[in-house]
Amino acid sequence: MSLQARKIRLIMQLRRSGVTDTSVLGAIERLPREAFLPPAFHDQAWEDKALPIGEGQTISRPLVVAQMTQALELTDRQKVLEIGTGSGYQAAVLSRLCRRVYTVERHRPLLREAEARFAALRLHNITTRHGDGMRGWREQAPFDRIIVTAAAQREIPEPLTNQLAVGGIMILPMEGRGRAQSVWRVRRTESGLEREELWPTRFVPLLPNAVPEAFSPAGAPA
Ligand code: SAH
Repeated sequence: MSLQARKIRLIMQLRRSGVTDTSVLGAIERLPREAFLPPAFHDQAWEDKALPIGEGQTISRPLVVAQMTQALELTDRQKVLEIGTGSGYQAAVLSRLCRRVYTVERHRPLLREAEARFAALRLHNITTRHGDGMRGWREQAPFDRIIVTAAAQREIPEPLTNQLAVGGIMILPMEGRGRAQSVWRVRRTESGLEREELWPTRFVPLLPNAVPEAFSPAGAPA
């Protein structure tokens, strides 16, 4: 099957699964998902599958990316924070639909690879940071939208709700009792936070603290 036929098949699957936002579908169709995958998985890039990207992490299924992006209700004026850059694919989809994306990743090697992909694809409205995304990005707050792509354990990290603008939306997977996860939508209104459980899901966990640099002092004796 040709690349074009695979793309069309995936877009049709997403539509049948309830992704109706044509700007989201267009962004997915135009972005080369293979560019975010190790070569061994290039032939599966246009299948609706999560795939390994190293460091025990995964690139999310296109359906999950599409549904979460649609749930963000993006416009091209917005400033968006993503926690969990991973391969960079979700950030790249966002970058086509909003003004600017700020994305935080705790594994530096993954972040470096994602940055190289953004440069190669000329996605110049993405700013990256190595660190613990549970703390958000205080210097750039408030954000119109926040998307978390790793599952919080029972509680929404408070810095993230604090950094959400009034009128803003946060989409995040969260683990409840019995380890089952759901995607939640949190809206900040004048009077506080409104939470809404959207659908069941399965994400890798949101973990505290950035992974420290490997210890490699320059010029140290062997
Ligand atoms: N959005 C990614 C998929 C993310 S997988 C993509 O499109 O490919 C989840 C990512 O969240 C992993 O890379 C993991 O290292 C990262 N992560 C987990 N906890 C984190 C934290 N506290 N801060 C920043 N990144 C975190």
